[in-house]
Amino acid sequence: MRQTNSMGITSEPGKDKGARAPKRKAPPEPPTPVEAMDEVISPPEQAAKEASVSEAEYEFFKVIQGYLDEAASIVGLPAHIREMLAQPKNEIIVHFPVTMDDGTLRVFKGYRIQHNNLLGPYKGGLRFHHTVSLDDLKALATMMTWKCALMNIPFGGAKGGVKVDTNALSRAELMRITRRFTHALGNNIGPNYDIPAPDVGSNAQMMVWIMDTYMNQVDHANKNAQRAVVTGKTLTCGGSPGREKATAQGVVHCITEWAKDNRLELEGKTAIVQGFGNVGSFTALLLGKLGVSTLAVGDHTGYMKSTEGFNPHKLSEYVKQHGSIQGYAGGTPITREEFFSTKADIFIPAALENQVRAQEAELLDVKLVAEGANGPCSPEGEALLQKKGIAIIPDVLANSGGVTVSYYEWVQNLRSETWDLEEVDRRLERTMKDAYRRVSFFAQEKRVPMRVAAYCLALQNLGKAYDERGIFP
Ligand code: NAD
Repeated sequence: MRQTNSMGITSEPGKDKGARAPKRKAPPEPPTPVEAMDEVISPPEQAAKEASVSEAEYEFFKVIQGYLDEAASIVGLPAHIREMLAQPKNEIIVHFPVTMDDGTLRVFKGYRIQHNNLLGPYKGGLRFHHTVSLDDLKALATMMTWKCALMNIPFGGAKGGVKVDTNALSRAELMRITRRFTHALGNNIGPNYDIPAPDVGSNAQMMVWIMDTYMNQVDHANKNAQRAVVTGKTLTCGGSPGREKATAQGVVHCITEWAKDNRLELEGKTAIVQGFGNVGSFTALLLGKLGVSTLAVGDHTGYMKSTEGFNPHKLSEYVKQHGSIQGYAGGTPITREEFFSTKADIFIPAALENQVRAQEAELLDVKLVAEGANGPCSPEGEALLQKKGIAIIPDVLANSGGVTVSYYEWVQNLRSETWDLEEVDRRLERTMKDAYRRVSFFAQEKRVPMRVAAYCLALQNLGKAYDERGIFP
């Protein structure tokens, strides 16, 4: 019932705030003078905010809507369906207080954007980052709808997050923020309603904190049936084998298909990787297994190169221990411009959106950009890459391995099963390669870029489902 209630109604910011009330009444909040504040920004967050002013001006959601318009006209999507898909169904914004280690109290702002649940429960990651904004999350939630529709996964699209600089937090503070955010969301999430997962700044441990908090908010009798409220958990707490590397594994399956099509032997080839977190580090590791060496890497602390190629295992271990690539002895520091100018065969953007604008596209000297990150290329950047003959495997296809294995995790939780890694890998490989073939075929047939092809296939699926279901009442 709740799924059809708002179907067809385009929501406005904050309109559906608190759309579903928490099942259990929240304990009374301690009185605090800062609670009414919209957002509290620490000095390091402020510095980071100022440093990324140009990124903040980038209208990511508008860019995604532009792609929607282009694909909608190609597949002849009826105007009313296009209108329904142009806006998220629910935009939930919460403010919640957390006691910091020094005893002070801070109020944080959290979001959950539920774009569409036509094909199944809302699904998408949670981003914990100082740049988190409503506009970006609307774009990212929308992309989740396309991804699931493209991959034939019975999920809709969502995204959420907390505006916070995780680098400035202790583990205990991060845990309290994660748990209070989960509590604030109440039953706006749920195993059959909206299922979060990791994204930038969140990880398997945080997913377990979310699961545990959610479980403690529901009836005793139903507790264990609630594991599937979140995916990307640790193995001991109901996670799936292969989920941690899944997004990267999907990127690498797409690269191998692209290489086959282009008669390129991957052994002995080179890559550069921006972002060395979950997606970037696992992609470098998996490419390494295919004989592709990583010549340059970068993250929020800077960039470095290694002429003979990085050892991705050692660098990953270093990042796990130190939180970034900064200070890694196996590489030489370079500038951002030098990173983007490094000659290589493949570029893996695996950080944030809007990283390849015209100036970076001008510098890039690669054959292929495989988008591990969501929205890494601006439209200007993409146009320039196309002009230079650089191929792009678009985000909606390339990084959909994550949500695919999240779906496997959800199915295992619901059935109380545990699949082995072989089973997960086998299913993922088949699904990714099939999706790559469908997108590539559509792109060639209609003479459109792969991004447009991926959007078209997703929209065809959604359009057909809307057409068959009709609009309630
Ligand atoms: P992560 O937090 O594990 O890693 C993010 C990396 O980006 C870190 O190395 C960080 O230092 C770097 N970074 C942050 N700001 C940067 C900047 N301004 N310049 C350069 N590097 C910067 O996050 P992740 O899960 O690896 O996600 C990376 C990208 O992949 C995001 O766009 C995310 O939406 C996308 N993605 C992730 C998954 C997943 O399963 N984790 C699935 C699909 C898509």
